Amino acid sequence: MPESKIHLAVILGDGVGHDVLPVSTEVITEAAGACGIEVTHEVFGYGAQRYLEEGSPLPEDVPALVRDLASRHDAIMFGSAGLDPRIPPDVNCRELLRYLRFELDLFVNLRPAPLLDRRFCPLRADLPIDLVVIRENTEGVMMRMGGNFKINTPDEVAIQEDINTFKGVERICRYAFEYARSHGYPKVTMADKHGSLVHAHGLWQRVFWKLSEEFSDIEGQHYFIDTLCMDLIQHPDHFGVIVTNNMYGDILSDLCAGLVGGVGLAASGCLHPGRVCMFEPVHGTAPDIALKGIANPFAAVLTGRIMLDTLGHKRPAELIWAAVQSAVRDGKVTGDLGGDLNTKAVGDYLCEKVIEFAKEQ
Ligand code: NAD
Ligand code: MN
Repeated sequence: MPESKIHLAVILGDGVGHDVLPVSTEVITEAAGACGIEVTHEVFGYGAQRYLEEGSPLPEDVPALVRDLASRHDAIMFGSAGLDPRIPPDVNCRELLRYLRFELDLFVNLRPAPLLDRRFCPLRADLPIDLVVIRENTEGVMMRMGGNFKINTPDEVAIQEDINTFKGVERICRYAFEYARSHGYPKVTMADKHGSLVHAHGLWQRVFWKLSEEFSDIEGQHYFIDTLCMDLIQHPDHFGVIVTNNMYGDILSDLCAGLVGGVGLAASGCLHPGRVCMFEPVHGTAPDIALKGIANPFAAVLTGRIMLDTLGHKRPAELIWAAVQSAVRDGKVTGDLGGDLNTKAVGDYLCEKVIEFAKEQ
């Protein structure tokens, strides 16, 4: 049974995190509260705020900070890391984001992209779209392994290593099959490029097809990543759960977000089942609109939905989903989705709705 209390670490980060996280925290608290779950939280100004107050965005020992945060909270909600109009461009809290992912071994990056409304899809065809990108989050070419030789000369050599371990590939593919089974998706599509990357993606092939035998109730399907990009545009309704490596997943999740309304709607969770996890919207710091109170809070709010779902609190997660659907139907949305409400007004509407829907059932 899930606990009936949740203690959250709320890390504002840089830029638009300051706009959207307070709103999502409120909606999460209301939705959980309506289901008898008490949510408490602690706000941390790591990033721009700490820089303005103390001269540096992060404490010196970031791994220790991460361990401390994880030991005292049930989940970590993160805003965004990167450019913030108030501070120099080279200052940010990216390092914290990296350490959260690696210190806590958050090997799953779950990025659902459901189409909330026909009008958010840029395609002409009226298709039901419900995509879930499951991206490996701790390996691949993004681990900063490699180096440069004869740097800044015409003979420079740059090497970026691609890490793929049996353990890493097995656990992410297994997570994808389990996610499909528990969330009612009939199929898992694995995307790689094993025709060229014969060693690394040969491993993905062997592991994926072996697991596919174990999960005989779920259809396993393979696509080359390039073909998948084309088919996602032509037939997005043919796909559901997609599992892939770190780099392809990064790119694919933006493509999928673009099919359903853009980053203002795109939620994500960095997960290691059974451990303290971190939840962050897919979008960055949005320096062009940050700190103006006009950002779309849906991505952060739906990130809260993933958090609640991950902690086993299905009911408040459903309330949040219903409230966001209702906001879209009623046009209670921010400018990026064609509405005229500000961040807080959307949040207030969502809070009202989760309480109303909770009473209805
Ligand atoms: P971005 O996601 O910040 O913004 C892209 C576009 O989407 C912008 O036009 C922005 O205004 C809009 N947008 C983003 N969030 C929105 C929201 N909630 N509501 C409405 N519109 C929204 O990406 P970018 O501009 O390429 O990057 C800005 C900074 O963020 C960079 O420093 C980048 O490195 C960083 N970044 C961080 C993360 C992260 O924290 N995980 C992810 C991507 C980019
Ligand atoms: Mn990305």
